[in-house]
Amino acid sequence: MPPIARPRGTNDLLPPDSALRAWVLDTHRQVAEAHGYELIDTPVFEATELYERGTGAGTDVVEKEMFSFTDRGGRGLTLRPEGTPGLLRAVLAAHLDQERRPVRVHFAGPMFRYARPQAGRYHEFWQVDIEAIGERSPALDAEVIEVAWRFYEALRVTGLSLQVNTLGDLDDRLRYRSALVAYYTPLQDRLCADCRRRLGVNPLRLLDCKRDAGLVAGAPEIGPSLSLESRSFFAQVTGFLDAAGIPFRLNPRLVRGLDYYAHTTFELWHESLQGAQNAVGGGGRYDGLAEVLGFPPTPGTGYALGVERTLAVCREQGLGPEPTRDRVVVLSIAEADRRAAAAVARALRGAGIAAVLDISDRRLDRRLSVAARQGARAAVMVGEEEAARGTATWKDLDTGRQQTAEVAEVAVALRRLLAGQ
Ligand code: AMP
Repeated sequence: MPPIARPRGTNDLLPPDSALRAWVLDTHRQVAEAHGYELIDTPVFEATELYERGTGAGTDVVEKEMFSFTDRGGRGLTLRPEGTPGLLRAVLAAHLDQERRPVRVHFAGPMFRYARPQAGRYHEFWQVDIEAIGERSPALDAEVIEVAWRFYEALRVTGLSLQVNTLGDLDDRLRYRSALVAYYTPLQDRLCADCRRRLGVNPLRLLDCKRDAGLVAGAPEIGPSLSLESRSFFAQVTGFLDAAGIPFRLNPRLVRGLDYYAHTTFELWHESLQGAQNAVGGGGRYDGLAEVLGFPPTPGTGYALGVERTLAVCREQGLGPEPTRDRVVVLSIAEADRRAAAAVARALRGAGIAAVLDISDRRLDRRLSVAARQGARAAVMVGEEEAARGTATWKDLDTGRQQTAEVAEVAVALRRLLAGQ
């Protein structure tokens, strides 16, 4: 019988690589919390309607990529393809925005999209996310972008390009829509089948088309369709970014074709990622989303960053956590000493020291060199004599210095050693 394989488009997270992801997630949490964002978590599956309305029926995600199913009670459910609709639902259903505005939340978790698997595109992938809900302020849009920027700075990632644009408000977009329809209608015969269909439904989405890139290049930009107010809003966002020393590129082609997106939109691109998958993440303002989900109108802004693509960039650039040597290995000299060794390890853990029990039968010198290679700072040896007297012998694996003492004293000495004193 062939062994059962991992499903297509999924990844196993294995040590030692798992430490890299833990470091990326920890770093994101620290940076987000330093800006006042608090942890939030929501279900991995939600009512399908949440995404049909919240992600938008006209998007590729909803049209082609959802993992949807019917539960035993006949309810339509979907594995979450993105975080924002569920996070906004959770915050507004709990009325958090009535206590304080904005509500600042951060999140990390798996997402599911049924797109053709390839490098940087999986069926299951992780995102880290922040949302600032309840205020319509350009300062908050800039803050959200800054948190993303500071996150990659904290990882020491270089070579990122921040692309920003504005979509204006609903009236601006209606004007822009007309300009796009006027441009594309005479070119209809040259459009791909998808774009011809979208022209009637959602002309902004034509700008996302990779096949009709030549036509996209000649399409009108949103600038002339923007009201004075929208221009001023965007000028404030970019002004805040300048003041924060965050370099950005204005990219008038960066659009989201749904009515509830408004004003600021941005993406972070990385040069080492290939082609269409070169975005590590993106976000923007979604002032109309709450109403679409059936809640009172509530503005919001946020981002989602792809964890696998961020990990790929970290690997490419040789980035990762500082190697830690914050544990000890406890080994028994002979099989008869194993119980005593386990008791010593337990006592050390009780004193706050991470202690790994070595239960192999190999030669002591081999076991000591394996312990050093696996990142132990010291080895604690328990033989017949130590077992009888309630002592242990500990060895500094860097200097080779060795000492026998009562277990409580060994714990004190090891704590000092691990603290670097
Ligand atoms: P989006 O919600 O589509 O704007 O995606 C935000 C980020 O999530 C992207 O920039 C990617 O880094 C990541 N991402 C989106 N879809 C996938 C996928 N299928 N596989 C891996 N990462 C993804």
